Amino acid sequence: MSTEAVEIRVGDLAVQIVRKDIKNLHLGVYPPNGRVRVAAPLGFSDDAVRLAVIGKLGWIKKQQAKFALQARENQREMVSGESHYYLGRRYRLRVVEREGASRVALRNLATLELKVGPGADRSARERALNAWYRQRLRELVPPLLAKWEAALGVKASSWGIKRMKTRWGSCNAQARRIWLSLELAKKPVQCLEYVMVHELMHLLERSHNGQFVSLMDRRLPLWRHHRQLLNEAPLGHAEWRY
Ligand SMILES: [Zn+2]
Repeated sequence: MSTEAVEIRVGDLAVQIVRKDIKNLHLGVYPPNGRVRVAAPLGFSDDAVRLAVIGKLGWIKKQQAKFALQARENQREMVSGESHYYLGRRYRLRVVEREGASRVALRNLATLELKVGPGADRSARERALNAWYRQRLRELVPPLLAKWEAALGVKASSWGIKRMKTRWGSCNAQARRIWLSLELAKKPVQCLEYVMVHELMHLLERSHNGQFVSLMDRRLPLWRHHRQLLNEAPLGHAEWRY
């Protein structure tokens, strides 16, 4: 969507406002940093929004504290024995230090083996694992994309994978470009499929209106279930509302 956002300050709080053709004001606090965003009806003044934010200040602070705690808990040390996820399954990380390029491999159904050079620190280990996740997605996406482009009768001009802080995917409908979050590699494959269908659907319908929802219901009847899976702990960094 190309709605323009403005930012106001309420005390020490930065509040992003997006005005839309909606009836009620919607206030959200988003991970991982507790960003505050308000969707306001057209014609709602900045002062009216400011008042609404002040009324919810206690709740906002509570949400922000929750995300701060979650972010600390989600910080991985990248050492042997830690839990890591791939396609919704939990694996135990085994770090093997040896000379040579980094490599990641699944050993049996329970171990994720990460081979790194001696002295590779936390962030080097994380980079190696993220590169592996990215590669897995590069293999998983094309057949699913081909299937859904055919089913929906649309075609994306390009697609990509990136690290996204607050979303699972996005679609630039004008450029017909789709982005998928790297985090999807950790989720059950139905979640990847759901986000992809959602983003492709934006090539038919740009906003999350009734038409969009009924298209989703028709094409992917279990989408609400997939969305719930996506937002479940322990990896629910991001909230996905549609
Ligand atoms: Zn959307």
